[in-house]
Amino acid sequence: MSIRHKPGLIESLAEKVGLIPNLHEEDGPDLPSLTEGGALTDYPPPDQWDDWVEYEAQDWPRQQAKHYMVVPTACFNCEAGCGLLSYVDKETMEVRKFEGNPYHPASRGRNCAKGPATINQIRDTDRILYPMRRSGARGSGEWERVSWDTVLDDIAARIRERLQQGANNEIAYHVGRPGAEGYIDRVLKAWGVDGHNSHTNICSSGARFGYALWHFFDRPSPDHANARFILLISAHLESGHYFNPHAQRIIEGMMKGAKLAVMDPRLSNTASMADHWMPTYPGSEAAVLLAMANVILQDGLYDAEFMKTWVNWQTYLEKEHPDAPRTFDRFIEALKSVYSEYTPEFAEQESGVPAAQIAEIGRDIGRAGSRFATHNWRSAGSGNAGGWAVARCLHFLNVLTGSVGTEGGTSPSGWNKFKPNVFDHPPDQKFWNELHFPKEYPLSHYEMSFLLPHFLKEGRGKLAVYFTRVFNPVWTYPDGFTWVEALRDEEKVGLHAALTPTWNETAFFADYVLPMGHASERHDIISYETHSGTWIGFRQPVLREARRRMGDPVDFTYEANPGEVWEEDEFWIELSWRIDPDGSLGIRDHFISPYRPGEKITIDEYYRYIFDNVDGLPEAAAKEDLSTLDYMRKYGAFEVEKTAYAKHLKTLDDEAVAGAKVDPETNTLVAGGKTVGVMVDGKPRAGFPTPSLKQEFYSQTMVDWGWPEYAIPTYIKSHVHPDELDRENGEYPLVPTFRLPTLIHSRSGNAKWLNEISNRNPVWMHRRDAEKMGIGTDDLVRVTTEIGHFVDRVWVTESMKPGVVACSHHLGRWRRKQDADGNRWSVNLVDIQEEDGGKWRMRVMDGIRPYESADRDSSRIFWRDGGVHQNITFPVHPDPVSGMHCWHQKVKVEKAREEDAYGDVLVDTEKSFEVYRAWLDQTRPAPGPGGLRRPLWLNRPLRPAEETYYLPE
Ligand code: SF4
Repeated sequence: MSIRHKPGLIESLAEKVGLIPNLHEEDGPDLPSLTEGGALTDYPPPDQWDDWVEYEAQDWPRQQAKHYMVVPTACFNCEAGCGLLSYVDKETMEVRKFEGNPYHPASRGRNCAKGPATINQIRDTDRILYPMRRSGARGSGEWERVSWDTVLDDIAARIRERLQQGANNEIAYHVGRPGAEGYIDRVLKAWGVDGHNSHTNICSSGARFGYALWHFFDRPSPDHANARFILLISAHLESGHYFNPHAQRIIEGMMKGAKLAVMDPRLSNTASMADHWMPTYPGSEAAVLLAMANVILQDGLYDAEFMKTWVNWQTYLEKEHPDAPRTFDRFIEALKSVYSEYTPEFAEQESGVPAAQIAEIGRDIGRAGSRFATHNWRSAGSGNAGGWAVARCLHFLNVLTGSVGTEGGTSPSGWNKFKPNVFDHPPDQKFWNELHFPKEYPLSHYEMSFLLPHFLKEGRGKLAVYFTRVFNPVWTYPDGFTWVEALRDEEKVGLHAALTPTWNETAFFADYVLPMGHASERHDIISYETHSGTWIGFRQPVLREARRRMGDPVDFTYEANPGEVWEEDEFWIELSWRIDPDGSLGIRDHFISPYRPGEKITIDEYYRYIFDNVDGLPEAAAKEDLSTLDYMRKYGAFEVEKTAYAKHLKTLDDEAVAGAKVDPETNTLVAGGKTVGVMVDGKPRAGFPTPSLKQEFYSQTMVDWGWPEYAIPTYIKSHVHPDELDRENGEYPLVPTFRLPTLIHSRSGNAKWLNEISNRNPVWMHRRDAEKMGIGTDDLVRVTTEIGHFVDRVWVTESMKPGVVACSHHLGRWRRKQDADGNRWSVNLVDIQEEDGGKWRMRVMDGIRPYESADRDSSRIFWRDGGVHQNITFPVHPDPVSGMHCWHQKVKVEKAREEDAYGDVLVDTEKSFEVYRAWLDQTRPAPGPGGLRRPLWLNRPLRPAEETYYLPE
């Protein structure tokens, strides 16, 4: 069904006779369909996007017609990449508002509050409009405006010099939210540096590792809309990855009868919508999941056919039960026996969730069979030591029920994600950067980014040129003062360039602050596994596109953007040319137009090449007499595949299995000692990209890399397990990982609507705990971590699991007196004192205040609270297996002391170094088999040349 509004009789007549504009003529490609539900919205038809007329709302009751250019782009306020339509006033060339793009296959015209709030960000009166260079000591808050030419020449010369010296590992690019598909990877490979660093190990890599062990792909892609049972270990209806596209489909699934169960110690908005809320004790989730697995096994609710074909059970029997007959029945017997200890009663003891509820949900999941959709994002996977095992145990339920890659089930992420075909592929870099992938963490799923300042302190290396982009570790990461200590040290970080549209706590310690565009001021392509289908979205600078359509094109995005705001894509092309001015480094070759030999590539050419190579897009564009680039400029998105199920059953061609022999025991095709296919129904099938091409219940990788106790899915007790707590001493597990649905880490600080909605982050505490302590809502508590403490107010609520406390990480932004005005909707003014022995004290001097600016709303600010910066009081907790930072904290909660004030922070970075060393001691370093640094088959960001995987003898 169409999501267009269906006109009534009178409306149709009025349209026909021209009394009102006809908004319902069919044009453009089919809109993405909703499986159920009513038409919620109405959109301007695309044939009127070049001249859309609306009355000026602010002139009411006068009727003043305004003419708009409607230009699609994509939201950048979380990772979902939902579609937006921008309304550009043709008279003033200002963007007036953002609404949803109905042509976007994932978001289908809908957005959360953060999408339309993009307008706040581009109109932010505190935003940075010109490149700035520090003019005093680093961190002194003294800045001067500088030209882009100066910036580019200086940075290019430094990079060139390091590359010529072979010091490629001193160049690093550190990204928070990428929001793009591989653009920078190509740039770094062209430079020959192993310099990619990301935020993923403080975000999602724990869960990713759990999934990757099963089938290489590291995220789930649930088909919520067609599920019978949905299990979330997250607050996924309101926050978390791809939550708006997912939320739409979860609700669709529920409207068709699916049941929803949610594990979360908080009664989140998501849990409040569920059929079952399971307030699990933090870190006990895997025990609950294995108890459900046990119920499914004991009750015979598993999918024997799927498991027999697609699980590497033969290897398990061979390794763990070598004397047993190699039969599937024997495997099931072994499973039943191994998991029998995970009774619902045991799970109740660990989690506090009633055994009967666990058993009931286990049976419901078993009965849902192949229509069982699951998701685990951050939450337990990122909170706990061994959190990666939660995702592994969750996927075990998908394997047991045969709901892997099925309609209504859960697919591997890669099946629903588009990979762009770019015009040029530089060779893999010949360097391995141990500042990002150190020997101690051979299985680390992403870069050990949060240990970087400790590695620098230990003298493991240094950085000559360090780019940070949409990245604010001083505020978002644990142990922010250790970051300050590293960033201000010019011996450790030679040059720090912060690519950011707004001021932030990390940019205060940069040498250059380089303003880059917001969502509507830049190009990117995006594609995520939001549902069973594949799409590509196009983020574009809307003023540039509006000017092109109006016959006034520009050559570079900064010419259309406000001030001198660049976009990164063009920055990297320009910088790369200047690093290699005469082409002698071979870098320039990778930035030459595929259409104009010898000429510098333009950004239009870069995207034109990609779009020309998207399956089906040239045909769709041709139908409208458009080039592929113009099609994407017009609609902002394209659906590459409507649905994608059972890709493991893809039949292989003869060439792929040439010379292969069938192993009669496993039914796999083996050629040259390598498994190349799986025989199913007499045909060679692709399977999953693991060494066995099957779902790896038994992980030889874990055994080979020193973790035999984790060869199969198991429960690992968290560092905040009750055994680790001294309850008598007021200790609690603190859950600091949850998102407020309307905020986005650092990026929402300049969005006035969002800060008006959410502007405090109290400690959630159950009534019983509060009564025990004799405190009530708004009373101050001191929360003491291993390295310091913070002082916050309490919110007493029944919505928190007793014995557990929680605090959202989104608030507590700050600036010091010497720092530039920025994000004043959200930023506390603080005083920071550094004392001997690595002690840092922060005190809030003033909260949020109204201020005069070009935006009249800034003088109407009514809230005073900017929240409390809790993350900076956390030490690093690197999981010894996955490398994920384990966010949950063992804390002591007590009434605030006389000397305490709201927002106070105390941190001891010497203690934080000790904690880092204690966790480091738990690792089992490389080399692995054959002298490898890490397994070859698992993915690695910015994968280097294969020879670099081997440690020097
Ligand atoms: S879900 Fe994310 S991408 Fe979508 S509108 Fe909200 S913030 Fe933007």
